Amino acid sequence: MTPRPRLLPIPIPPALHETLESYLRRLSATNRVHPEDLKHHLDFDPTLPIDTISPNNLNGLSIVTGYPPTELARALPELDHRHTTATLFRRQPMPACPRCTSRHRGGPVTRYYPHHVRTCPKHLLWIGHQPARHHQPRTFVDISAAANVIAAQTRHRRLARRRGTSITAHAFTYARRIWTRTPQLSDTVGATLDPSHLGKTGSPEDPKYQAAIYPRLVTITTLLTSPYWRDVALDHRLGGAFFAEAGRILLSDRHYQPPPGHPLRTWLDDLATLQAEPASLISALARFTEP
Ligand SMILES: [Zn+2]
Repeated sequence: MTPRPRLLPIPIPPALHETLESYLRRLSATNRVHPEDLKHHLDFDPTLPIDTISPNNLNGLSIVTGYPPTELARALPELDHRHTTATLFRRQPMPACPRCTSRHRGGPVTRYYPHHVRTCPKHLLWIGHQPARHHQPRTFVDISAAANVIAAQTRHRRLARRRGTSITAHAFTYARRIWTRTPQLSDTVGATLDPSHLGKTGSPEDPKYQAAIYPRLVTITTLLTSPYWRDVALDHRLGGAFFAEAGRILLSDRHYQPPPGHPLRTWLDDLATLQAEPASLISALARFTEP
């Protein structure tokens, strides 16, 4: 029989929008108990995902930490399942800005961020796109000298506010695909992005590279969320006007024609579907898994 939960010697608070796994890991480390022993003590079912926490588990967590369930739920989105709300958060949790969470003990924090947050605007660090991976320490690129990356985060946040979180998140995901599938774009990194502010950029997986191309991705997102250009894209009478504008923005080439299967073309197909069924945008967003 599992003993009744008792207040831990060091009941540390959860961080903002932290994952339950991250909070339990930090609680365990701070109190020098094994995470599995803590889960067992809280009566978690080891056969179920941790975010399927039961009222009994939540009550136990409240007792061992000393924080009321309502306060825990405010900090930990998994407790009331709002981490699955696509308009609030990206699907995959991310390593939190280490300076925002420096007062939190017990190791690095993993948390949920909104779709449009790719940097910490307070500490000028690149948060990026890669979800948290176990046992892999994250390096946070300093963007304090990259004014264009900082400005891109502001533009991205404004877009989400003006055009809507779902439309902006959908467009940004396509912007990343468009970049990856347009080989001419990767050749422009050194020439147009002034990577000297960030130091030498490496492969496309390098966070410095991703930070360097972020302003261009937000520019593509601006095109894809523009009501004017969405109307043009859907109006077949306007022929290639949308592709001409996309070519101008992407490659300074008004005669650009994306090849078959290019994400610019699949985005157009998606747009027609979403126009007919706006609700499908939310379910499409919920399925997005960022690489
Ligand atoms: Zn921060």
